[in-house]
Amino acid sequence: FLSLTHFPLFEQATPPAGTDPDTFIYMNFMKTHCCYDAIPTSSKLVIFDTTLQVKKAFFALVANGVRAAPLWDSKLKCFVGMLTITDFINILHRYYKSPLVQIYELEEHKIETWREIYLQYSFNSLISITPDSSLFDAIYSLLKNKIHRLPVIDPASGNVLHILTHKRILKFLHIFGSMIPKPRFLQKRISEVGIGTFREIATVQESASVYDALTIFVERRVSALPVVNKQGKVVALYSRFDVINLAAQKNYNNLNMTMREAITSRACCVEGVLKCYPYETLETIIDRIAKAEVHRLVLVDRDDVVRGIVSLSDLLQALVLTPAGIDALYS
Ligand code: ADP
Ligand code: ADP
Ligand code: AMP
Repeated sequence: FLSLTHFPLFEQATPPAGTDPDTFIYMNFMKTHCCYDAIPTSSKLVIFDTTLQVKKAFFALVANGVRAAPLWDSKLKCFVGMLTITDFINILHRYYKSPLVQIYELEEHKIETWREIYLQYSFNSLISITPDSSLFDAIYSLLKNKIHRLPVIDPASGNVLHILTHKRILKFLHIFGSMIPKPRFLQKRISEVGIGTFREIATVQESASVYDALTIFVERRVSALPVVNKQGKVVALYSRFDVINLAAQKNYNNLNMTMREAITSRACCVEGVLKCYPYETLETIIDRIAKAEVHRLVLVDRDDVVRGIVSLSDLLQALVLTPAGIDALYS
């Protein structure tokens, strides 16, 4: 990953004549605040040695209530990657056979064994950022690399200070954004600004199996699936995060259970589905997503039929990167 400082073009984006200056408010805010500013004063950080067994690592994520952990290679004496719930999904999906057969690879493999197999042909080093880099650079890295966890590493000590996410960055903007002028475009309707994905939405039927949902996660690489009934109405939301419940409840050996069962057995989750409507304003949507601390809202019509997804990735792209002349990195 190249630091953005190598691209002076992004730093100096001069607004073309006639462009509404409000367009640049959030981009400038992110360029003038650094990652350190967005780090909480205290938070939990869990690190795994790559010789730890994968199964124990996923149990440890659950036991510590964290979503991801940086991986430490004690031979190389450096961080080599991350372990996230997506990795758990990939392992389950790749090795699951039936409820009667134990997933040997999950029971026996070490993190390093899994990484050797899985990352054989792909780019596999840790993507990180320094505390004095701008939040703009952090957003660019998260979106360009299509990841959801960005460790902030102190270059002097080599320590991980925090793991930045889209959620944390939006929350920071939501709290401190009150000090900057409110852009007028926030009063536009979501249908007018077109922020989100409105075609080919990946959904899952409530009668489908958990294995079917994992297949969609692997094939479509989306972060969550609206769960729909036969009429196409959204009845729940199943996100990658919810898959960790399979480790928490030790029922990852039965991926034949239905989505309906998986949803009702979730240990803790958001009540109902957080939705939005095409006629709602961007301001209403940002407020709702920030307050609920979720990664996306499901865009529905009056009959609750799924029409789109408005994800934090879409909001950060539109509010921060597009004004800098960086086209959608998710297409
Ligand atoms: P999740 O949304 O489940 O937390 P991510 O989208 O962040 O997961 O992860 C997608 C894949 O990219 C996973 O295989 C994960 O290990 C890897 N990954 C995530 N963050 C980083 C990072 N900062 N550096 C390198 N790889 C990463
Ligand atoms: P992460 O912090 O890993 O990005 P998510 O925001 O995807 O996590 O999910 C956290 C929890 O919130 C999950 O239980 C998920 O089902 C729930 N959730 C996320 N988005 C919605 C939504 N739009 N409606 C209802 N529940 C949601
Ligand atoms: P995310 O993975 O939520 O960070 O979003 C990355 C991109 O995928 C964004 O443009 C989202 O709008 C889009 N997206 C997220 N979930 C879905 C889904 N279920 N179906 C189609 N697109 C989605």
